[in-house]
Amino acid sequence: MHILELIRKKKQGGVLTTEEINYFVDGYVKGMIPDYQAAALLMAICWQGMDKVETAALTMAYVDSGERLDLSGIEGIKVDKHSTGGVGDKVSLVIIPLLAAAGAPVAKLSGRGLGHTGGTIDKLESIAGFRTELSLVEFVANVNKYKMAIMGQSDRLTPADKLIYALRDVTATVDSIPLIAASVMSKKIAAGADAIVLDVKTGSGSFMKTAGQAEELARAMVRIGCSLSRRIIAVITDMNQPLGREVGNANEVREAIEVLQGRGPEDLTAVSLTIGAHMAVLGGVYQDFDAGYKGLEQIINNRQGLDKLKQLITAQGGDSNIINEPEKLPQANAHISVKAPASGYVAAIDTEMIGVAAMLLGAGRKVKEDRINPAAGLTLTRKIGEPVVAGETICTLHTDLEDWAEAAILAERAYSFSDSAPAPVEYIRRTIGTDNFL
Ligand code: URA
Repeated sequence: MHILELIRKKKQGGVLTTEEINYFVDGYVKGMIPDYQAAALLMAICWQGMDKVETAALTMAYVDSGERLDLSGIEGIKVDKHSTGGVGDKVSLVIIPLLAAAGAPVAKLSGRGLGHTGGTIDKLESIAGFRTELSLVEFVANVNKYKMAIMGQSDRLTPADKLIYALRDVTATVDSIPLIAASVMSKKIAAGADAIVLDVKTGSGSFMKTAGQAEELARAMVRIGCSLSRRIIAVITDMNQPLGREVGNANEVREAIEVLQGRGPEDLTAVSLTIGAHMAVLGGVYQDFDAGYKGLEQIINNRQGLDKLKQLITAQGGDSNIINEPEKLPQANAHISVKAPASGYVAAIDTEMIGVAAMLLGAGRKVKEDRINPAAGLTLTRKIGEPVVAGETICTLHTDLEDWAEAAILAERAYSFSDSAPAPVEYIRRTIGTDNFL
């Protein structure tokens, strides 16, 4: 077998065998296949796609390249969730305490932000003292004791995905449905979950710009989950504007606290309750989706979710005073208003542009070695459908940088306006489960 044959075969639209896929992944991880040949094969996959069997084989090749987390010490059905990435997406911060309060064990592995999208681990690290590196023993013990724990994705899980993702990132080969599906699902399978809820984002701030592409990705991932006997549901949610009004790290933690206090933004609350309700049903805590949604709403209203977040922060070494005094979270020195150039309604927000503006302010990383500033970010005063008068603030930049001009230009350009109100945003587009398509 030679990598050149595989590149030629895929370039001509052929189907790779499981042995060929294993040869590629193993050869690349061991350094026997150089970057330029791996990149050529990835580009051929981008153009020609992969069928169900190839995508499942790629997923398992990633899983088998590293360790699997042994969560057998955790009692109950372990339900995990994964978002395909967005801007202002702080859903995990809301649902971990909600599910734990409902009695479903949450053993959450999360990532850091890269490029225009944020990561839950960075957000939590804006809380003084919060530890995101736990030993497996502490992780399992905390889930059994508190019903929840969160830690950073270990380098020992799916190392092939890590290496190949880094190569895809610099060779314009990220936005391929089978490559994303295998990348996401391998991490979930290696992380040991029994059941998985996927939040597949669609719109200007996500990898899948159209609802059709998002649905195709959702189906590919649900199919992989089914073929590996995992219970799995994918929910397609809107990412044509940031979720909630805060984009950054510390300010996103503040907004998650507001949701748990019952005064969070409508879109963030609705998406969190939807993803959470599906997780709670898969975890066997509620009979059906409606009961789960109402049950979690009640956990917000009676403040049990907020108490659980406090417990999570304390259990992982963080300063839980931020729950009662969120102003103790890092705050930037300067707050710069971006003004509306015209009167009317906000018609659209280029969400990727807002994500890039946040990154330029220091809330995210251009490359993975960059240090982030937990206080940096943006607050969107106006969102789609809201009226605005010329000269009013549409968003505020939070920064410690002297040079914030480029971020301000991007934030202003991200907004477009219309004379009449646009159609209301549909937060939840579709739900795809194991039984409605296979
Ligand atoms: N998120 C992932 O984990 N992998 C991808 O390929 C894209 C988004």
